[in-house]
Amino acid sequence: MSGIYSLRFRLAATFLAIILAVMIIISFFLYTTLEHYHINNLRESLKRTGFLASDFLVGHLRGQVNSVRLSTLAENMSRQAGARVIFTDQQGVVVGDSMRVGGLLNQALEQENVYDALEGEVSSSVGYSERLEQNVLQVAIPVEEDDSVIGAIFLSASMEDVYNTLGDIRSFLLLATLLAVAVVGGGSVLLARRITGPVEELTAAARKMAEGKLDQHIEVSSSDEIGRLADQFNLMTKRLNYYTSNLKKFAADVAHEVRTPLTTMSLLTKSLKEHEMEPEQQKEFVEDLDSELDRLIAMVNDLLELSRLEKEDVEREEVVLNRLIRSMVEENQYRFARAGLELHCELPEREYKVMAVPMQLRQVVGNLLDNALNYTPPGGAVSVSLYREENEAVTRVADTGCGIPEEDLSYIFERFFRVDRARTREGGGTGLGLAIVSEIVAQHGGRVWVESKEGAGSSFYFALPYSEEQI
Ligand code: ADP
Repeated sequence: MSGIYSLRFRLAATFLAIILAVMIIISFFLYTTLEHYHINNLRESLKRTGFLASDFLVGHLRGQVNSVRLSTLAENMSRQAGARVIFTDQQGVVVGDSMRVGGLLNQALEQENVYDALEGEVSSSVGYSERLEQNVLQVAIPVEEDDSVIGAIFLSASMEDVYNTLGDIRSFLLLATLLAVAVVGGGSVLLARRITGPVEELTAAARKMAEGKLDQHIEVSSSDEIGRLADQFNLMTKRLNYYTSNLKKFAADVAHEVRTPLTTMSLLTKSLKEHEMEPEQQKEFVEDLDSELDRLIAMVNDLLELSRLEKEDVEREEVVLNRLIRSMVEENQYRFARAGLELHCELPEREYKVMAVPMQLRQVVGNLLDNALNYTPPGGAVSVSLYREENEAVTRVADTGCGIPEEDLSYIFERFFRVDRARTREGGGTGLGLAIVSEIVAQHGGRVWVESKEGAGSSFYFALPYSEEQI
């Protein structure tokens, strides 16, 4: 995760780019503002000197000019202003130059600024002095008498000081930028690590899960978005582990349950094949084989039913429980009578409506009735009743059968659980009937429970929420 595509790198690079851009923009504006300020300052000071001199010069330029005096004057001004000072006459010919040796005395001063000044305008520009080998600021000011220009003052100052100051400022800004980049860079690396550290941890855990190590857990150290993600991850792995172990247990249970009838069938087939038998005995063996096969088929059907229940989301409709129970009781009368059992129902006058898949509700009641029939000896009675409890409609299937030992009551709705395996097998149970009941009722937002006393009978209950219309 340390490549240039990593989140950590990109976060740190983004922070750095932002701070660098901000510092460059600030430095640029600060530098240009200060540059203007310093150059303006110098220009204003040159102009001030020039204006002072221009009033003073009027008298000196009138009539005969004295170049020696004017040059001395220029020299004095030059010392004060820190600039070269040149005076010209009306034609732009130098009549005084602060630079005595190698000066321009009596020469025409060929300068744009001077031409402007002779036109009556104050003008200035930055030029390059070959002699000083550096930039200079040049200002030219007209000397006027009665609205006519009689000469010009030309001042040229070195900009070395300005550029020295600006150089200092530039170094300072560069240092500040480097410092900001270093501080923000360090900070952003730390911050990026804080943010991406847990993400990397999550990725590593997810990778391990992909490799099949499902028992991953991450220490949650913060309550921010990443912390919540880690929390959810832990919850997910916990669930996943729970489901996988359930699935493993279920697969083992199925294998175990299937093995018994298959072994029996294999034994029966071998006996039929290898031993001479009377036709009577042979028939008995084939009947046993047939009943084992039936049991296997019933188990496979129940398993299919369970897995279908888990994936299907069937449309529900309003079901009147009273009607459903009554019709099922009527349909089962004959079967119960044949087993020597009495079957009746106690239903309220008022209709109890629930939102349900009718076929599935029929299966719930059907499974409970099958169990009552299977586990109640002849002469017993089974009753189905319906009553209301707060916002639920409760159905109770009570029998006077063998009952369930107290220690088994909490396992009764588990897949493949049977109280007395030997006894139940005789009856051909798969151990899945109540698991189906419980799954269907749970999917309808309801609950199931049982009350039973060994030898005295059992009561199975399922409660379903009323359809909204009825509440
Ligand atoms: P089975 O196909 O074995 O009936 P069930 O899931 O329907 O599977 O029931 C699980 C076990 O619960 C049964 O094997 C039986 O021991 C016990 N049982 C269920 N209903 C009753 C009942 N009405 N009376 C006594 N025992 C019952």
